[in-house]
Amino acid sequence: MTKLQQPIYNRLALIGMGLIGSSIARAARARGAVRSIVATARSAKTRRRVAELGLADQVIESNAAAVEGADLVIVCIPVGACAAVAKEIGPHLAAGATVSDVGSVKGSVLRDMAPHLPANVHFVPAHPVAGTEHSGPDAGFAELFVNRWCILTPPENADTAAIERLRSFWQALGAHVESMPADHHDLVLGITSHLPHLIAYTIVGTADELSEVTRSEVLKFSAGGFRDFTRIAASDPTMWRDIFLANKNAVLEMLGRFSEDLSELTRAMRSGDGQKLFDHFTRTRAIRRGIVDIGQDSPAPDFGRAHPGLPAEPLPRPYAADNE
Ligand code: NAP
Repeated sequence: MTKLQQPIYNRLALIGMGLIGSSIARAARARGAVRSIVATARSAKTRRRVAELGLADQVIESNAAAVEGADLVIVCIPVGACAAVAKEIGPHLAAGATVSDVGSVKGSVLRDMAPHLPANVHFVPAHPVAGTEHSGPDAGFAELFVNRWCILTPPENADTAAIERLRSFWQALGAHVESMPADHHDLVLGITSHLPHLIAYTIVGTADELSEVTRSEVLKFSAGGFRDFTRIAASDPTMWRDIFLANKNAVLEMLGRFSEDLSELTRAMRSGDGQKLFDHFTRTRAIRRGIVDIGQDSPAPDFGRAHPGLPAEPLPRPYAADNE
């Protein structure tokens, strides 16, 4: 990653140094997007590991102390914990600072954090639509956001210059940036990411409970489709508990539509309506091809898993794409 000529922010404070926080630290440093990085995490264990990995210029114990003097603060923790952290940092934020986050749900973050932030800071929530099923500071890497989307959901009265500056920051990390209202974000991600995760969590649980199919058979024959669900269902339980609670309405709405469509396919199967099944699968195949065409996944067979004679997958797969 080549360095920028000028850093975009002076001092970046990262609260939470798991997969996303540590990837931002690595990428921001690799690109010279900020002059210095201050990091903090809830547990002493994570703070120690962040220091060992040299991910920040300073590792600080408290959230309040970490944000002092920072002109960009990014909260990288599960969405259910954002309100408490906003309350803690609110009185310590520098005037004119931009406060952002990376949460996978935006309506709740906006609602939970905004009341605790002083009027003299710019609050611009964000969601980098990039990730893996791994967690913690060791799981991060600088290229995570390259060619992935980062969605900004600024409140209506947000300062345009602050939004543009944050947009430049994410672009410097390699992301494409788009802005939209928080509730629209939650609806879109409800169908592209949250519902697929709910289905994966369900199906892996169902398979696990099937007494007539042994656990070893489930593992042995998992390449028949199940394996991809197991990867999604391995995502962090705290993060996903919080996502389903915070985006309940949108996910329930999508789940309702999904159930209707599932009933329709079930009926087609029961009545032997092969044409209906064929037409449906033809439509979904075109969607998959569309995703590959716009570069959001690898065209390599078997979801881009390493195959002899084929180039290795260039990037980790997007967590909100069809395969997550
Ligand atoms: P992660 O690897 O599990 O890291 C979470 C971090 O949050 C850790 O540093 C953890 O501290 C801290 N934390 C957890 N609970 C906390 C609490 N109650 N108060 C303060 N800090 C707390 O998670 P992640 O994957 O980076 O996800 C972070 C955020 O990014 C989530 O909001 C998630 O929705 C969003 N996101 C995730 C992905 C993804 O694919 N993973 C993609 C896009 C956005 P300790 O280590 O000290 O426990």
